[in-house]
This record gives sequence, C-alpha cells and structure tokens, in this order.
Amino acid sequence: MKKSILGLRREELEQILKPSFRASQVFSWVYSGFVDSFDEMLNLPKNMRESLAEEFVIAPLSIINKECSSDGTIKYLLRLQDGKTIEAVWLKMRQEVYGEDGVLESEARYTICVSTQVGCKVGCSFCLTAKGGFSRDLDAGEIVAQVLELKKDNNHPQNRRVNVVYMGMGEPLDNLDALSQAIEILQDENGLAISGKRQTVSTSGLSTKIDALAKMDLGVHIAISLHAVDDELRSELIPMNKAYNIASIIDAVRRFPIDTRKRVMFEYLVIRDKNDDLASAKKLVKLLSGIRAKVNLIYFNPYPGSIYERPLTKSMVEFQQYLIDRSLLCTIRDSKGIDISAACGQLKSKEGA
Ligand code: SAH
Ligand code: SF4
Repeated sequence: MKKSILGLRREELEQILKPSFRASQVFSWVYSGFVDSFDEMLNLPKNMRESLAEEFVIAPLSIINKECSSDGTIKYLLRLQDGKTIEAVWLKMRQEVYGEDGVLESEARYTICVSTQVGCKVGCSFCLTAKGGFSRDLDAGEIVAQVLELKKDNNHPQNRRVNVVYMGMGEPLDNLDALSQAIEILQDENGLAISGKRQTVSTSGLSTKIDALAKMDLGVHIAISLHAVDDELRSELIPMNKAYNIASIIDAVRRFPIDTRKRVMFEYLVIRDKNDDLASAKKLVKLLSGIRAKVNLIYFNPYPGSIYERPLTKSMVEFQQYLIDRSLLCTIRDSKGIDISAACGQLKSKEGA
C-alpha cells in the first residue's frame, strides 16, 4: 500500500524533491489546486510526476456515505485504503449574514471534526466508538486527508478558514506522533494554513501526554473530557481514570501554556441521574477555581443498547445557570446534527461498517 503525500511536512518533501521549490509547487497543487492525481501537476517535469505516483497516493481515503442535517452539519463515513472506516463531521458553526441589500456581510463559519484512530483503547462506558474496540492508529496523512477531503467536498477554497477539532473517533493523545505531524502539516502557510489557535485537541485526560503536547509548543488549544467531578464516577465512565485521575489532569492543565485571551475547554457529558445534580455543579466550580476555564455541557446521546439516559433539559439549564451565577463560563453544546446519527461512532455503527 502506498503512503499518502499528505503525511509529509514541506521540509520532508524538500528532501525528496530537488530543487526544493518543487515541494512548494506540490503543496500548492494539493492544498489549493485540490488535484486528485500527480498527472495534473503540470509545472512539474514528467519524470518527477511519474516517480511521485510510483511512491505515493494523494488521498488515502474516500467518501462512502454522507448524512446531511437540516442545520448544515454533514457527517461523513470514510473508507481507508485497508478497507477500515472512520467518521469525520463538517459542522456549520455560524450562518452567513446578508445585509438588507442582499449583500453578504459575513461568511458562514465551519469546523471540521476529525478522527485520530480506528476505534479507541480508552473504553469509555458511554461511547459507541469504544464498543468496537481498537483497530489501529491513523497516520498523519489520514488525519490531514479528512480536513482536505471535507473542504473539497464542500467547495470550500483553500484560503477560506476552517477550525479543526480532534474530537472524532479515537483518543488523539494516544497517537501523539501522527497527531503532532498532522497539526504541523495543516499549519503550513503553503498548505491549508490552519494556525494552532484554530485547532483543538480533545482528550479524555492522558495527563503525561498533555505535558508532552505542551512541550511541543504547537500553539493548539486543548479540551478536556472531564464528565465527572469525583474519581469514583469518572473511573466508571472512563476506566483510564484509575491511572490518570482528576487531580493529575487538573495539574497538567495548570501547566499547559494557554493563550491569555483563551480558555481551556472542559467538556462535561451530562447523564441523567448520574452527574446532572447541583451538588456536582458545586464540586465542578471548586475543581476549576483559578483556571481560565470554559465548561461545555453535552447531552448524553443514547444509542441502541446504551446503559445511560439523556438528561432532562431542565437539569441542563439549571446546571448551566449554577455555573454562570458563580462566574464560570458555560455553554450547552447545541445538538448539531440531531436529526442524523449525531455522536461519535454512530454513523459507522448504523452502516454496520
Ligand atoms: N477521545 C477524545 C476525543 C473525542 S471522543 C475524548 O474523549 O475527548 C468524541 C466526543 O464524543 C467526546 O466529546 C465524547 O464526550 C463524545 N461522546 C461520546 N459518546 C457520546 C454520547 N453517547 N453522547 C454524546 N457525546 C458522546
Ligand atoms: Fe475513546 Fe473519546 Fe470514546 Fe472515550 S469518548 S472511548 S476516549 S473516543
């Protein structure tokens, strides 16, 4: 199986292609020309195009299914070269705004949610991805390709910005080498130029890897999937919590370099009668004191066979208000794509893929 050229940083491509400006030309064809084959790279010598095609493919994955929601969210099922499948989601975060004269005043904003592994080792009790076990890590090319293919499919030109969230299938920090390589490739000015501050890594809390990511100084944001305020419940939800408990995660977050205008996002999956009470909200306020935090409450999204229940809207709103009244920023994740298989792993499972 050939490797994808999308997994190479420009400096790495420069080692292969001489003179080195050829690497920038290839980057332009791929990331702004959106070409599908090396044949189309007309300003490259024919023998260079041929040897590239012998060694590499461009896209290491293809779109095999799409579900479009009325709110602009599109969920993709993608097939990798070895036949395994993953999901990625195109999220419309803000509608375009037109003035009275019908002229476009501000463009729509999009976020792409990508996967980092086929399956996941962490095994959270609420997560459908976990049910299928772990299959393999994605390589950097397969991570970058999700962003590129979704932009292409939505006719979203290179120079229009998107945000990237590593919140699809898998635990990003359990695949840190490929993740960091992909982050850097996506940042390249000759590529998609998605700066670190537009990329967010969501983790279930591998504290030592949070430190390792911090050391890499990539300028990315982190989101912590906290979901519980005491270790007993968190270990039930996220078995790995026995090794990396809440205190160790909070300590790692305190060490993480945060842009002074930004906040660390804490995701809190709300499950009915498990963690939706105000006593938990009170503990959460205490736990996050002194951290520039923002809490995102997520409705647990049930699926056939799931052992938990969706919380009542009333408890979500009361939980949110409790935090806001104590000066903690808190949003409720609006259930984008609620009319399609919304949470991670749910489209793949429906396909039986
Ligand atoms: N492994 C990382 C990356 C994202 S997992 C992490 O855990 O942070 C994908 C996201 O889907 C997480 O935010 C998780 O909380 C959410 N999720 C998983 N199962 C869900 C469900 N049944 N309902 C709602 N959100 C779910
Ligand atoms: Fe893995 Fe995240 Fe699902 Fe937990 S919630 S099993 S860490 S993908």
